[in-house]
Amino acid sequence: MRQQPLKIVIVGGGTAGWMTAAAFAAVLRPEQRHIRLIESSEIGIVGVGEATLPHIRFFNRRIGIDEPELMAKTQATFKLGIEFVNWARVGDSYIHPFGAYGSKIAGVPFHHYWLRARGEGSDSSIEDYSLPIVASRMNRFALPSEDMTSVMSTFGYAFQFDASLYAKYLRGFAEQRGVQRTDAKIVDVQLRAEDGWVESVKLDNGETVGGDLFIDCSGFRGLLIEQALKTGYDEWTKWLPCDRAMAVPCENSGPLTPYTRATAREAGWQWRIPLQHRMGNGYVYGSNFISDDEAAAKLLSRLDGKPLADPRPLRFTAGRRRKTWNRNVVAIGLAGGFLEPLESTSIYLIQIAITTLLDYLTGNEGTRGQFDPRIVEAYNRWIEMEYDRVRDFLILHYHATERDDAEIWNYCRTMDVPDSLKHKMELFRRRARVVTYKDGLFLEPSWLAVYFGQRVMPTAWDPLTDAMDAAELQRQLQTVRDQVQSSVMRMTPHEEFLAKYCPAMPTSMGAGERA
Ligand SMILES: Cc1cc2nc3c(=O)[nH]c(=O)nc-3n(C[C@H](O)[C@H](O)[C@H](O)COP(=O)(O)OP(=O)(O)OC[C@H]3O[C@@H](n4cnc5c(N)ncnc54)[C@H](O)[C@@H]3O)c2cc1C
Repeated sequence: MRQQPLKIVIVGGGTAGWMTAAAFAAVLRPEQRHIRLIESSEIGIVGVGEATLPHIRFFNRRIGIDEPELMAKTQATFKLGIEFVNWARVGDSYIHPFGAYGSKIAGVPFHHYWLRARGEGSDSSIEDYSLPIVASRMNRFALPSEDMTSVMSTFGYAFQFDASLYAKYLRGFAEQRGVQRTDAKIVDVQLRAEDGWVESVKLDNGETVGGDLFIDCSGFRGLLIEQALKTGYDEWTKWLPCDRAMAVPCENSGPLTPYTRATAREAGWQWRIPLQHRMGNGYVYGSNFISDDEAAAKLLSRLDGKPLADPRPLRFTAGRRRKTWNRNVVAIGLAGGFLEPLESTSIYLIQIAITTLLDYLTGNEGTRGQFDPRIVEAYNRWIEMEYDRVRDFLILHYHATERDDAEIWNYCRTMDVPDSLKHKMELFRRRARVVTYKDGLFLEPSWLAVYFGQRVMPTAWDPLTDAMDAAELQRQLQTVRDQVQSSVMRMTPHEEFLAKYCPAMPTSMGAGERA
């Protein structure tokens, strides 16, 4: 990196702003950077975003976050997957697990053997071969084993946490590492006359803050990337028709489940995210299909416990910014784009933007914050790829339904989907093959979970499975089922595990503080 410290201005102090601040402060040496974060407590944060993906653990590890401490201070629970209820047909339930189904036999993915056995009359469910699914159904948890020969190594886990406490925790972490925070509202953005790059932002306290690199974490308003730079937005509402949500916490009732639930409803779907101190709930819906008042009433009538607040309305447009890195502004979080929360992907997209930016930044910046345009382009391509992959996966849930009992499902079932998704579904239907890729989110087990769960069934499978005789096939499948069952029986009830590993701490404490 260059000699002068890079002056980084982060605009916004929600999950995106504080994750960025924490990571930059932890990864770049103090002499390499000067980080200033500006947030407005008057505007506040979106405050939802409570379910995560296993990748967050790599982020925590890279920047040195202590997992039990983070979990204790954010009232977190463990998450082994997402249960989808009523998606293909009313009454259906399947879990998208964070882990594999069985393991390859003679180089052939396990599900081909399961399909063959099914074709021969076996009635076992694919879920019986997934440890995180069986553990979820039995409310049990244990940390995965590092012994790769053990069935206990076949899963990962994520967290369900309180989003406001998470931002607060990260703020403590970042401030301890030298990030300077200012609570003020940005009222103007000044662009450099010669090239239109952002030179400085003006605050409502009269101060002007200049920088080399501006990271726009200002949420849906996209203060720098859109309002100042007019970057443009690719909208995907025709494929992802939900554009609003009502969010409301309620009291916990019953055991804390180690998974998030997404229940398809008459105009969208409802989330249920169990935390140690409360349950997070929300109704994500399309404004073409239900009114706000009706959505709020439906949500309140379907809570597990007493509501702890009034339903809070949120509006959004599915899509992404045409470039998330434009001139010297990088948009991260809601300022960069939004894909609805069905698969809890937003925090992942924040994380990947941060780590990719950190990797691309090193050695890239020159004098006066000039960035190599080839690096900027490569970064933008990468982020586009991440968004596109998530988009197709989300559309699959809506499109592959047999439901015809509501307008939204009729629309989604019959809509034209992106060619990239058509190709994936066709390949799966004909050959049971999942399009695989090296980078990006959602690998084979995730696609399998949703294909099978949404009743997309292949008509053929790998003929190499025929090398095994029928009795041996039955024996091998039984062995996997037994291993999964007996391992889950040795796991601990989820709440008991939480009580030992990360008992909730008072919500007033930040990173590094001890009870
Ligand atoms: C309904 C819904 C459910 C979701 N569920 C999930 C989930 O389960 N999992 C998941 O991963 N993600 C989820 N998300 C996404 C997640 O909430 C966001 O990705 C995350 O909270 C990041 O938000 P943010 O930091 O980009 O924006 P925000 O939280 O909106 O923060 C914006 C910041 O910018 C500041 N700001 C704005 N304008 C100014 C100004 N003029 N001057 C100074 N400061 C300013 C604000 O004060 C604030 O600090 C969900 C989102 C929605 C809408």
